[in-house]
Amino acid sequence: MAQLSDDCFAFGGPMMSVDEAVGLITTRVNAIVDLETVGLVDADGRVLARDIAAPLPLPPFTNSAVDGYAVRNADLPQAAEQAFPLHGRIQAGSLAQAPIKPGHTARIFTGAPMPLGAETVFMQEDVRIDDSGRIVLPPGLKPGANVRPAGEDIPKGQVALRAGQRLRPQHIALAAAFGLVRLDVVRRIRVAVFSTGDELASPGEPRATSQLFDSNRFMLMAMLRRLGCEVSDLGILRDERTSLASGLKEVAGAHDLILTTGGVSTGEEDHVKAAVESVGSLVLWRMAIKPGRPVAMGIIGGTPLIGLPGNPVASFVTFVHVVRPTVLALAGALPEPLVPIPVRAAFTYRKKEGRREYVRVFLRKGQDGALEVTKFPREGAGLLSSLVETDGLVELGEAVTGVEPGQSVGFLPYAGLI
Ligand code: AMP
Ligand code: MG
Repeated sequence: MAQLSDDCFAFGGPMMSVDEAVGLITTRVNAIVDLETVGLVDADGRVLARDIAAPLPLPPFTNSAVDGYAVRNADLPQAAEQAFPLHGRIQAGSLAQAPIKPGHTARIFTGAPMPLGAETVFMQEDVRIDDSGRIVLPPGLKPGANVRPAGEDIPKGQVALRAGQRLRPQHIALAAAFGLVRLDVVRRIRVAVFSTGDELASPGEPRATSQLFDSNRFMLMAMLRRLGCEVSDLGILRDERTSLASGLKEVAGAHDLILTTGGVSTGEEDHVKAAVESVGSLVLWRMAIKPGRPVAMGIIGGTPLIGLPGNPVASFVTFVHVVRPTVLALAGALPEPLVPIPVRAAFTYRKKEGRREYVRVFLRKGQDGALEVTKFPREGAGLLSSLVETDGLVELGEAVTGVEPGQSVGFLPYAGLI
């Protein structure tokens, strides 16, 4: 008798790979085009809406890179050291001085404009002053040394920041260096967040003995905020199809994305899937990812919905790998693929082929000084301590069947995930 694998029909069809599922959703969502203008201090984490071409060169004028002494290239000592009379003193912020006198050197400070004709600067550490107060410059310095020519960093007119760039402090610094005061950014993505489950109580409310406090909602909202979203906290929906369905339908119009946690497994009390089907359409609801297999994606009144699993670790991992790229796509942000860093495994692990797995690990220095990762000793997807105590995730691709100590594995530090 032919045997069908448990996986084949038990959940209604084959599982989709993470890349396939994310590709499906990110290519189909319509990026938000509404803009707003924000001051530089409020721009961190926002998505730039338009390209920015350099309105001025950086640096804006040729200047000294060091505290030292400026000379003409024609006067550079060639074979032996040479004493130069001092003429002129140029501080940072001072206006252009008279041209440098041939055969002379001018005292100059870091960031000060180069006097006309001077092309090279000696570091003050490399010179000495002789008895008659002349500056003795050593031979062999490269012409142009220690000078920052205008535009060497960014020439005027060059596109320096691209539309879709998620702004980090360094991008804000660049905008400020251009003298910009406000930036056009994509409006914040509006996300409705629900938890589902009769066993959940909100922190601050009474908790029955059979209940636990809802932790996922606060984790997910914090991650969404880090992605620059405007979050609607919609509390906890009960495990009941009609109330779930009306709760989801009600918020669809006013949000760009609906995010739920819990209730997407196959138990009789997992009602999210049926609720989505009753008020919208389900695109998929299983993904080849561990922890996290049940992940629902659907559309309600044109608004995408992602239903994450209830176990906190599964919820965290699937947020990072499914919700994050979706939010970036909705904001029209340039893709920011997570690139695992190769490190040495110091653990053994067995894995099923065909699904992607994420292992919670500690990052340590091995005895030889090389970075290595060790596995959190327990497996459960409900262990919040496993996320709190470890440093990141090891990504094991679909084709991998196991890990042996000494093998190179890809490590994703938590700090780089959001
Ligand atoms: P579910 O996906 O609804 O079957 O839930 C799986 C497990 O995760 C159960 O033990 C739930 O109690 C737990 N869980 C579900 N939602 C949350 C939440 N919002 N916060 C903490 N734990 C949760
Ligand atoms: Mg549940």
